[in-house]
Amino acid sequence: MKTIQVTIDGQKHQAPMGGTILEAIRAAGIYVPTLCHDPELKPFGACRLCIVQVEGLRGLPTACTTPVQDNMVIRTETDEIQEVRRTIVELAIANHPYDCLVCDKSRDCELLSVARYLGARKSAVDRFRRTTLSRPVDASNPAFSIDPDKCILCGKCVRTCSELQGVGAIDFAFRGYQTRISTFGAGPIVDSTCQSCGECVARCPTGALMTRAVLQPQKEVQTICPYCGVGCGIYLGVRGQKIVRVRGDNQSPVNRGALCVKGRFGLDFVNHRDRLTRPLIRKKDFPRSAAQGDTLNAFREAGWDEALEVVAGQLAALRDGYGPDSIGVLSSAKCTNEDNYLVQKFARAVIGTNNVDHCARLCHASTVTAALAAFGDGAMSNSIADIDQADLLFVIGSNTTECHPVIGRKIKQALSRNGTGLIVADPRAIELSTRAAVYINHKPGTDVALLNSIMNGIVQMGLHKLSFINDRCEDVKPFLESLKLYTPERVSKITGVSAEKIQQAAILFGRAKSAMVLYGMGITQHTTGTDNVKAIANLLMLTGNIGREGTGFSPLRGQNNVQGACDLGALPNVFPGYQRVNDPAVLAKFKSAWGGELSGETGLTLTDMFRAAHEGRIKALFIVGENPMMSEPDLQHAKAALAKLDFLVVQDIFPTETARMADVVLPAASFAEKDGTFTSTERRVQLVRKAVEPPGEARLDWEIIDALSEKLGRPFSYKSSSDIMDEIASVTPIYGGISHKRLGETGGLQWPCRTRDDPGTPILHLDSFTRGRGKFHVVHDKPPAEQPSGDYPLLLTTGRILEHWHTGSMSHRSRVLEALSPESSVEISPADADRLGIFEGDIITLRSKRGELQTRVKETLRVFPGLAFMAFHWGDAPANLLTNPEVDPLAKIPEFKVSYVNATLAVLARAARDNAFLAALAANPARALKSYPLTVEQRAALASGDIAAIEKWLGYPLDDRLLAWLKARLEQERW
Ligand code: SF4
Repeated sequence: MKTIQVTIDGQKHQAPMGGTILEAIRAAGIYVPTLCHDPELKPFGACRLCIVQVEGLRGLPTACTTPVQDNMVIRTETDEIQEVRRTIVELAIANHPYDCLVCDKSRDCELLSVARYLGARKSAVDRFRRTTLSRPVDASNPAFSIDPDKCILCGKCVRTCSELQGVGAIDFAFRGYQTRISTFGAGPIVDSTCQSCGECVARCPTGALMTRAVLQPQKEVQTICPYCGVGCGIYLGVRGQKIVRVRGDNQSPVNRGALCVKGRFGLDFVNHRDRLTRPLIRKKDFPRSAAQGDTLNAFREAGWDEALEVVAGQLAALRDGYGPDSIGVLSSAKCTNEDNYLVQKFARAVIGTNNVDHCARLCHASTVTAALAAFGDGAMSNSIADIDQADLLFVIGSNTTECHPVIGRKIKQALSRNGTGLIVADPRAIELSTRAAVYINHKPGTDVALLNSIMNGIVQMGLHKLSFINDRCEDVKPFLESLKLYTPERVSKITGVSAEKIQQAAILFGRAKSAMVLYGMGITQHTTGTDNVKAIANLLMLTGNIGREGTGFSPLRGQNNVQGACDLGALPNVFPGYQRVNDPAVLAKFKSAWGGELSGETGLTLTDMFRAAHEGRIKALFIVGENPMMSEPDLQHAKAALAKLDFLVVQDIFPTETARMADVVLPAASFAEKDGTFTSTERRVQLVRKAVEPPGEARLDWEIIDALSEKLGRPFSYKSSSDIMDEIASVTPIYGGISHKRLGETGGLQWPCRTRDDPGTPILHLDSFTRGRGKFHVVHDKPPAEQPSGDYPLLLTTGRILEHWHTGSMSHRSRVLEALSPESSVEISPADADRLGIFEGDIITLRSKRGELQTRVKETLRVFPGLAFMAFHWGDAPANLLTNPEVDPLAKIPEFKVSYVNATLAVLARAARDNAFLAALAANPARALKSYPLTVEQRAALASGDIAAIEKWLGYPLDDRLLAWLKARLEQERW
């Protein structure tokens, strides 16, 4: 970095060239007060506290907005400067409530500390007219409140929301003395586009924006967010054994302090009253086969010794009676790497089977299969930081801002700061599609055709990188030949997207100097999932966009440690580090490392295990931290499969839908109660640290497996998770240089990290691919397994929403997340709603060939006519009752993204649209009946059930359905 020389307060200093005076002052280690400045935001100059004197310049310029120049002579503190600063802060205080003693912010209020620093005078403050406006506090958001009387209009919140988050939910409103921060439309914050990330709250210098949690932490523990695969660094604020506050880790290379609503406000599940605290054993009079295990009354509490004896005894009996392959083990992407290593070792070395898998089978199994085949590594090739270097981002099948919000934020920043180009392909409009240069809303299940057609366009225009292809890839000829079929005109008919749009995408992608493809489960959860990912790999190799900065293959992994669970061998075909179980040399290595016999036969995948259980071939399942009774497709089938088992053990932190079907439930520790490591989507292995004790008798996952192994005659005898990591490093070359000690010193290492002095690998495939040459695959368009019919005409696609996570076992137990998003809904287009005669707010029945559920209607233009979208987080409306269990033939991932359903009105809210009372009744019956201003006559009509009077008042004829609905609603609320 080039520097210049400046004189500050009589001393010569070097300052970065091109910066501001404030940056020069701070680089010199000198304090000047600021209230509106934030190094991550553009200079604003609103508070004017950073005024300085500069020789040759008139007046007192603000240091934050004035560029520093060579040989500048700057004074930061003179009597005149201090007097002006003091007056500014006294004016701010004059309009500020005097409740510092009871204000939760007072411990770290910047206004208070600046006032103290400048020596604000009470007499001076009293001199200014006190005109505090006493405006109401906006407490509509369950996570934080807004007190306009404490706002000093520094604008940090407004700029944070637009510049950093790319949301722009708030702005300055009104003029002069009436100026305040407001949502557009001046309504409550919860009704705005606010995403409740809390970034504005974290930056507010006063108590104007405050979290609703009032307890101050006694200590902070650095760890990693347990929700998505981004791997954000967090500090858990702990008081006693409770998590009372969460803040982002500013030093984390992943998130630099940023968090989404789940990470910042959704971790109170750790202290939820539903936590399992003692082992549970099913009572004899509640047999699982009768599917009566849906309440905890079916269980009795037991001690650890008894519970482990039962589990060990049953597993040993089944193994000895039917063979080890009659048992299946599901590991967990929520658990640490050390836990996963031990679970798969338990399956292989103690039970003797390779029937071990985890939820990657349901999200990114196709990524692992395809990327191993194309590149030789089944993971993201570059780093999240490469988004800043890319010319073009192609987001396909990923609702990034909701499912991986901190990456979504980074994408939005790249667009606004760097002018990065964006292509979005998603059947359902997402936040990013409104910012894309090209938005493609293709039909679900047509990704191969779309990608092939984009590549066809690239080749036709001669934009492919022949030198890269020739030097580094193989099997190019048949691949290029195969593209000829995919003319934009033909593919337009398959995808429903205009040929022009396909061509535009081809031009943008082909011309980009560096392009990244970021994708999610919109790509992977298809019967063609492996082909879809191979097509992405083809596109990147065709254009030379892999193996260098600003490019890359970027599968966005779902769960916090799904990458680690794959890396550590919780898969039926590979040992840790993707070492194949059927490779004799690998098998011999693990036999020697672990001692004893191991199977060289590939085991069953998760989806195959459920089929086998249904057919009686799998007799027992040991499920650690997974909830297949919500995450499996065709839940009726999954439930029947579990009911047929001879023995089911669930190890979890909550009594999930799956745990309630178990014979034995083992209470485990949550992420906040354990030491270990998670591996994020960018292959970054990071330390997880214990902040609180597990509740009751709950134990660490690895300790439970260790104790169980001992009962089965194979004691492991690890002393800590750090010991386990040392063993992982000794048998897993890509983790060979990783230890807890190094992770503590480095802030995380990206694998492959082979030796103790290897700094890790931010970019894979730099000079050659892991497999040698990158392999092009010929992939052709195939229709989804299910097709529309007269009975089931509506295409249902499933996914996630911002506020909830996976099967909801954690997020539904977070006060804030549950309050923000309390019930399920299905998105349908206004055209479909009209055709079906249903309205926003109606409750409809969705039926597929496999099951049915009821949920509320959300009319939206985000989905095109014929398409419905539903998230799969809700136990009372599990979308997976409807989804198709057909799987990709190679990766065995189910086709969650394409099922066909029909929709019929279940509970009427049709009249509610135009009738305020009915609308209120539909939204919240208790509140409507308590607070709606009904006349005496109207109340009497309702109480007596006088239909004619009710009809007259409502202005609607009460057909049978409306009448039944109204009666049920009123009875339910004990009218
Ligand atoms: Fe946690 Fe993911 Fe949100 Fe980061 S983006 S805070 S890892 S849920």
